[in-house]
Amino acid sequence: MTVTSESRTELDRTRFFIDGEWVAPRGTETHVALEAATETPLGVASLGTDADIDAAVRAARRALDEGPWGRTTAAERAAVMRRFADALAARADGTAMLVSRENGMPIGLSNAFNGAAPAGLLHLYADVIETLPLEDVRPSPSGSTVVRREPVGVVGAITPWNYPQVLAMMKIAPALAAGCTVVLKPAPETALDGYVLGDAAAEAGLPPGVLNIVLAGREAGAALVSHPLVDKIAFTGSTAAGRLIGAECGRLIRRCTLELGGKSAAIVLDDADLATFVAGLGDASFQNNGQTCTVQSRILAPRSRYEEVVEAVAQFARGMTVGDPLDPAVTCGPMASKAQLDRVLGYIDLGRGSSARLVAGGGRPADLSRGWFVEPTVFADVDNSERIAQEEIFGPVITVTPYDGDDEAVRLANDSEYGLGGSVWTSDEERGLAVARRVRTGTIGVNYYLQDLGAPFGGVKSSGIGRELGPEALDNYLEFKSIYASADQLGR
Ligand code: NAD
Repeated sequence: MTVTSESRTELDRTRFFIDGEWVAPRGTETHVALEAATETPLGVASLGTDADIDAAVRAARRALDEGPWGRTTAAERAAVMRRFADALAARADGTAMLVSRENGMPIGLSNAFNGAAPAGLLHLYADVIETLPLEDVRPSPSGSTVVRREPVGVVGAITPWNYPQVLAMMKIAPALAAGCTVVLKPAPETALDGYVLGDAAAEAGLPPGVLNIVLAGREAGAALVSHPLVDKIAFTGSTAAGRLIGAECGRLIRRCTLELGGKSAAIVLDDADLATFVAGLGDASFQNNGQTCTVQSRILAPRSRYEEVVEAVAQFARGMTVGDPLDPAVTCGPMASKAQLDRVLGYIDLGRGSSARLVAGGGRPADLSRGWFVEPTVFADVDNSERIAQEEIFGPVITVTPYDGDDEAVRLANDSEYGLGGSVWTSDEERGLAVARRVRTGTIGVNYYLQDLGAPFGGVKSSGIGRELGPEALDNYLEFKSIYASADQLGR
């Protein structure tokens, strides 16, 4: 069955993708999506209710228990995943552009993470599942034991607005490979792009109910978390929401992975090549206008070269091009929403009211009267205990803090409730690796920071539980089952 969404205007998304069809919402609430760079309407989306979530979960359950999906082989799932990848790849440019208009992400980054990466992840997990033994037989005291990897079941995937396509696919791709079915609840701030996934899934021939998409707010998100027919929650978002979701999953004894907030540090060692450091600053500290969970928004600088580092960071920030994220020359787009703009400006006020020294930016750009823009902002002389050094700002706001010696640098990097990303900058790669090993985070770079989709990704401490990405993430969607059998039963 080929389902299209032609009945909708290009940017109005007033139906949900449930059981392979674009269906009318049960409720009446809608959300007007505004373009981050212009504050003008981009489209209208319906917001789901508990009843929409219930319909989606039931469809996912049926597809698993009664439909063909629960009986597919790994090779059959891999084949449909590759068709899904092709359908997404054909839409990649438009998807990337749409997300940039929704959340302000610079277009080059959006091409990589919202355009190319989702198809790449489908290929990655299709390859992994085809080569992973899903059943093996081993000797046991009574004869033989069959050890099976079985799908966890129905997955509730809840995603934020900052990298909507890749974060959704980091859950969907391993889930499909494992044989699970999925209900995706994207964030209202990026209300429109999630539906590309529905169109592409239908075109690829994903059986009805295997992937369902309901745009909704927090309350309906909570209904997904606690729905009795859901087996696992895969959540990316704030630590505050992660605590609530984790608590509910604990109460229900329901599997969950939590990818949460961060406040990562870039450690500039005293032998660092500042040209290399500055070349990597965009990805490490300002990626996606600072709206990336792994941004190294705390820069730790050796006292012996402190002013040199402060000036390099300030110059970099002042040199960034702020403006329309669809312009490839722009390196800093707008914040994703008015709420996000207010939050970031609030932290800038906090910094201005502290003993910190403002060395770049500090407000809204004077030449941009529309759009949720913030100047790339740098505060120097920041004590690591200050709120601007401890709390996640989620905007282009950087602190610089001096340290004496590698031990203090590591201590300051680890002096955070979070443990998500980080980087070390040095002319001596071995020294950098040694320091990187001592920093308590899920990922860290030496002389650059860029996420590797082929390696496990996630956080420690309040940054989350579990890992996504890499072949390892498949385990999030598989249960082991041991069947004790006699050797005779297995024909030995
Ligand atoms: P958020 O927690 O407000 O919302 C994220 C998603 O969860 C949205 O879809 C929202 O509707 C839903 N939600 C919120 N409360 C819920 C609840 N109680 N039950 C069910 N669903 C709920 O986060 P946000 O502001 O959209 O995203 C920014 C945050 O995401 C930042 O803290 C950032 O660090 C984090 N993030 C983490 C990673 C990672 O991999 N660790 C990646 C990207 C973003």
